[in-house]
Amino acid sequence: TDRHSGRTALVTGAGSGIGRGIARRLAAEGAQVACVDLKHDLADETVSLITAEGGRALALSADVRDRAEISAALEATVETFGGLDYLVNNAGLVTMSSLEELTDEEWDLVLDVNLKGVYIVTQLALPYLKDSPGAAVVNLSTVEAEVVVSSQGFCQVHYNASKGGVKMLTKALAVELSRYDIRVNCVAPGPVATNFIPGADLDAPEVMEFLGQRLLVKRLAQPEDIAAAASFLLSGDASFITGVQLPVDGGWLTR
Ligand code: NAD
Repeated sequence: TDRHSGRTALVTGAGSGIGRGIARRLAAEGAQVACVDLKHDLADETVSLITAEGGRALALSADVRDRAEISAALEATVETFGGLDYLVNNAGLVTMSSLEELTDEEWDLVLDVNLKGVYIVTQLALPYLKDSPGAAVVNLSTVEAEVVVSSQGFCQVHYNASKGGVKMLTKALAVELSRYDIRVNCVAPGPVATNFIPGADLDAPEVMEFLGQRLLVKRLAQPEDIAAAASFLLSGDASFITGVQLPVDGGWLTR
């Protein structure tokens, strides 16, 4: 469809995985997409894909923790595309440490990117979003904002804490920004086939067995599965939906 035609979106973490999938989907549905990533070369690759698919996109490098960089990215977006209608706060990361191994540096990194970054980018984008009728924000939480997934007895407590924060921040932003008719929702993926955990082999038989016990849909999600939900929540089809967390998890949270 062309349900986003004439709209402009900014997607953080658009150089890889889910963010790239969302950027491509929104562009395929007519949006002009600012692809923001810490790594400029990755953002460039996403833009090349979108361009090859006939879409319009702009590659920008910025760290969601850095107000000056994000302000510059927003200005470049508005200068190029004339405004901002959608914000997708997707940039995120995890480090693999048990509580006993965890350092303050890791805690701060994960909380700053995953949670504080959503606050910073949304606050800085607000003056532009306020000017757009039908503006909407989508954040990325995870099933791990609801349940603790532990493997070999370890979870990532800092990740759970950050994404639980994203879920509640989404609701609080939905309330505050309702005065400007801006909707705010989040998507909670289950396991998605990306490079989120470097070196993890999600296709390994023991991993698939662990996942298979939880998943009702017996496959890993692809970025496209998450992108479809994000696109819906941004679209006019979701104009009566705000403040929700939509699991896209193959049934993970059912049991
Ligand atoms: P990914 O590692 O493939 O992509 C994340 C992208 O974000 C990378 O391109 C990275 O360069 C960028 N990034 C990291 N820190 C940044 C920063 N400070 N500023 C700007 N960009 C930054 O990961 P993914 O799997 O696509 O994850 C995307 C989001 O989805 C994350 O928020 C993650 O927590 C969430 N999520 C992922 C899964 C999964 O199974 N992959 C499940 C649930 C939720």
